[in-house]
Amino acid sequence: ASAQTGKPPVSISMPDLPNVGSLISDEETPEGSATPLSTLGMTAADTEQGTAGAGEALRTRIMAQVEQQQSQAETKAAAEAVAAAEKQAAEAAAKAEKEAKAKAEAAKKKAEEEAAKKAEAERLAELAKQYTLPTSSYTLSSTFGQAGAYWSSGYHTGLDFAAPTGTLIKAVHTGTITSAGWDGSYGYKTVLTLDDGTEIWYAHQSSISVSVGQKVNTGDVIGRVGSTGNSTGAHLHLEVHSGGSGSGIDPMAWLQGKGLTP
Ligand SMILES: [Zn+2]
Repeated sequence: ASAQTGKPPVSISMPDLPNVGSLISDEETPEGSATPLSTLGMTAADTEQGTAGAGEALRTRIMAQVEQQQSQAETKAAAEAVAAAEKQAAEAAAKAEKEAKAKAEAAKKKAEEEAAKKAEAERLAELAKQYTLPTSSYTLSSTFGQAGAYWSSGYHTGLDFAAPTGTLIKAVHTGTITSAGWDGSYGYKTVLTLDDGTEIWYAHQSSISVSVGQKVNTGDVIGRVGSTGNSTGAHLHLEVHSGGSGSGIDPMAWLQGKGLTP
């Protein structure tokens, strides 16, 4: 007998493969068989020849172990792929939800803006019933703030309604006449003071038909268009002095704020 005769398979060294020992442990032996793995199916001659048969069996089992580990690796990779897909789906869902929310908020904001716009239009329409333009059949010949040497202040302080001499001038709103008479470059001028303190100045009139202290209502005739004072042609020069301001404000903007379109 050689020195290797009867050498047990456990001595086969394959350090790179894990759990080799467990593959040949007693626990791995098939139930009901007490035959050691190393001698299973072997003849005496086989045994005499060495452990070739047992080595083959071990190799087969090791390969099975390797395949199992490969299978486990594939399972892990598959699980990771599933997790990645689920994460991607969750992110897509979150993005879609965020976009839907932003869209809903934009729609809500738009609806609110339209409602506010509609309410403002209704408010101006109601105001327009209480206010009126100062004259009719006119042409706007000069606007507020226009620069020019013609005006003593260097710029135009009112809004000019060009109309034939004698055209009726009306109270733009309910108020009280606080001034009526000659006023230098303004010519014949009437001042209507509204309940909120706003003063409406009518200048260059050809005639005045109200007196100081008189109460007037919207649309009441207070005088006629002319070209008195510093004027080069028949027109109504209208000024608006809000809260007693000296220089006045833009009559166009003020009238528009009352729902009117000069
Ligand atoms: Zn003017």
